[in-house]
Amino acid sequence: MNGTWELCPFGVAPGERLAVWELTRACPYRCAHCLVDGGEGNPYIENPADTARMLEDIGVREVVLSGGEPLLYPQAEEVIDLLVRAGSRVSICTTATLVDAQRAIRLRGKGLESAILSLDGATAAAHESIRHGPPSYAPMLTGCRALIAAGIPVDLTLTLGSHNAGEVDLVADLADRLGARSLAVVPLLPLGRASRDVDLTPGDAACRLAAEAAVRASGRLGMSIQRVRLPHPTDSGPPEAQCPASDLVTLTANGMVGTCPWLTAAGEGVCADDNVGLPSRYSQALAAARAIAAGRPPGLGCPLAAFQAGRGISGRDPLFDSGLPAGDES
Ligand code: SF4
Repeated sequence: MNGTWELCPFGVAPGERLAVWELTRACPYRCAHCLVDGGEGNPYIENPADTARMLEDIGVREVVLSGGEPLLYPQAEEVIDLLVRAGSRVSICTTATLVDAQRAIRLRGKGLESAILSLDGATAAAHESIRHGPPSYAPMLTGCRALIAAGIPVDLTLTLGSHNAGEVDLVADLADRLGARSLAVVPLLPLGRASRDVDLTPGDAACRLAAEAAVRASGRLGMSIQRVRLPHPTDSGPPEAQCPASDLVTLTANGMVGTCPWLTAAGEGVCADDNVGLPSRYSQALAAARAIAAGRPPGLGCPLAAFQAGRGISGRDPLFDSGLPAGDES
């Protein structure tokens, strides 16, 4: 068993500096839970080398490339190369539907460290029920297997909504069979498209079901299962439990700089526009973003913390503490 607590869904520990770089918002899908309104294209970042250099200058050593579908960005592989050469660890958040064996091998050759894929159900019907667009389940499985075969660890995310709360056991089993390194269960937040379309945010009963299933799966599978939790706004908690938003940088595909991607999606902590390709302005915006984040009480304003508070889920609620002590257990 290897259950792991994650206080930050982006895996950021205070003091680390991680950048989430949306290469594009173009995406073949129109997921109901998409927090960035992925689908339509946007002007591409013109000079990724400048941006990569800027990230290096401000001390970023870990970059998550996201989208939209980042592999639709024409220079995606070049960006990985640039960042890796600059000394960053690079992972990619992708649908994997554009990945075949050759591309997986090329990505590995560029130094890609890991891939983060969504798995929102244990069947095509469940996975595709909110992922409007061309078939996604079978190509995602093909891409996932290709990445793993190429030696790129895959971390899966189950976005927990009212539609799939009963599937955690099955999804965990599938993730295990695929050979994924981990599975994270993250409550769907009412941000972006999910704040306007059908309300799929999970209720208390759904969260409880999912948490219990995650505990069961942790007990029988060899993979890491993470249930995401952030500090409750009223839970001061120990320093290490505090939201590390000030150590997160989000570069959006339309040229904005923010802190945590969720805060950025909620319109909070976004500091500038017109930054694309202009590292000096990125740096100014970043300084402002970090000042905003540093001035926030821990957890306050975090959409996940607000969601949990709205559902009556406190930092010590058995829903998320479900019998597992904080920290790693094995
Ligand atoms: S959630 Fe991901 S796959 Fe779905 S529309 Fe948004 S960017 Fe595309």
